[in-house]
Amino acid sequence: MLSAHALAAFRSLLGTDRVFDDMAARMLYASDETPRQVVPDAVLFPTSHDEVAALVRIACEHRIALTPRGAGSGNVGGALPAPDSVVISFECMRRVLEFDPANRLIVVEPGVVTEEIDRTARGAGLFYPPDPGSAAYCRIGGNLAMNAAGPRAVKYGVTRDYVLGLRAVTGDGREIRTGCRTTKGVTGYDLTRLLVGSGGTLALITAATLKLLPAPEAVATLRVCFVSNRAALDAVGRVMRQAVVPSALEFMDRHAIDAIRPTGAASDLPAGTQALLMVEADGAAQDLPRQIAALEQALDGAGLLEIRSGFERQDIARLWMARKSLSHAVKRIAPLKINEDVVVPVSRLADFVDFLDHTAQTHQLPIVSFGHAGNGNLHINLMVHPADVDEMTRAHQALDAIMSRVLALGGTLSGEHGIGTEKRRFVSQEIDPPTLDLMRAIKRQFDPHGLLNPGKLFPD
Ligand SMILES: Cc1cc2nc3c(=O)[nH]c(=O)nc-3n(C[C@H](O)[C@H](O)[C@H](O)COP(=O)(O)OP(=O)(O)OC[C@H]3O[C@@H](n4cnc5c(N)ncnc54)[C@H](O)[C@@H]3O)c2cc1C
Repeated sequence: MLSAHALAAFRSLLGTDRVFDDMAARMLYASDETPRQVVPDAVLFPTSHDEVAALVRIACEHRIALTPRGAGSGNVGGALPAPDSVVISFECMRRVLEFDPANRLIVVEPGVVTEEIDRTARGAGLFYPPDPGSAAYCRIGGNLAMNAAGPRAVKYGVTRDYVLGLRAVTGDGREIRTGCRTTKGVTGYDLTRLLVGSGGTLALITAATLKLLPAPEAVATLRVCFVSNRAALDAVGRVMRQAVVPSALEFMDRHAIDAIRPTGAASDLPAGTQALLMVEADGAAQDLPRQIAALEQALDGAGLLEIRSGFERQDIARLWMARKSLSHAVKRIAPLKINEDVVVPVSRLADFVDFLDHTAQTHQLPIVSFGHAGNGNLHINLMVHPADVDEMTRAHQALDAIMSRVLALGGTLSGEHGIGTEKRRFVSQEIDPPTLDLMRAIKRQFDPHGLLNPGKLFPD
């Protein structure tokens, strides 16, 4: 329970209008996209790096745990408050501190909405490639903490690939700067890469220097229908074996296709479609026909039903809208989705999805899969009714089997959502004890009192 003394110290730093301890405000910040709630003791809204540093020092003095938070769109409980913690919301730190097109960089505070970064860059003929499906509302601080990514990752990489440097505050209130402002630099250890993806457990990020790229001149989209998951995923393997790298290569299984039907985006699919790929190419307008021809050639093979191209701008927008709404649309199947974002090597995708079908049958559960097939990153959704105890038991057994298979195939537990609270129990299956010990020692260096986002990332 937050002491009156600590509350007064926070109020004297931020003023009464940026420190909330009433139940209504605390409830608003009690959950993220995971179906769990932990009510924090208070919610704080700093507006600058200096305020963040000062409030961490107060938290240290009073030994108060801190839960950093962007938009709360994460789906692994990363921003779920630790018990007796105070939430630090970065929503009021949303300034673009510097935009430097000549050096292709932008410096932003953590509360800037991801899509705004891309929009600003495009104004100068540049773009910010990482494009999580939540880009319209998630915040760059959350993206940095989770190393977020989206469909473009297959060609352009993930958030980590676009971070030149960071400003941050450690768990004991030290102010640090990592990285540099140039695209080459090898001075000291690469703490930037360490902080990105650390889930708010090592330091609070207060500013990021991000790399931008020239915006592609043109984009072309293909919608490709197949008779089975295996046929579609074999085609993904053929695409990734040839030289033209698509700028998106997204997969949807039959359940996912059914889930987007109400949007109208699947109304004209050929009969017998059981799996779908969305394939995109980008670059110079005059080079696109060559790229599309190469991709079509690779996609052609056993089980192909149709390749559709020549979409109008509004049709492409509708297709992507349907794809990006899938995360919520699948909830029509059952009220709760147990959502995983596992990764397997691209060459093992078809085997993995066969295994999912088998698991769905043996455990009598709908399992919906879709996602970034070009990276081998699938969103697996086990659709369940939380009140059905038997179904929940079967779901957890299925989940254990799926995670074991992912690791046996040479994959990894999470491609972009991170570990948070939800996947902690699987971490020691992937990371060996000496490596985990080293990670815990690093955590102690950054956060000696264990105040930053406790109960996240590490297994018990
Ligand atoms: C519909 C939907 C689609 C999605 N699609 C994608 C997708 O395509 N790709 C993808 O990667 N994710 C996706 N996500 C998940 C989520 O949007 C991302 O994880 C995103 O990066 C979270 O950003 P946020 O601002 O909501 O952060 P939050 O959920 O608030 O926090 C995420 C983590 O970041 C930490 N954190 C926040 N700010 C800071 C800071 N300044 N310093 C240190 N730590 C901090 C939090 O403690 C937490 O651990 C999707 C979610 C939804 C609901």
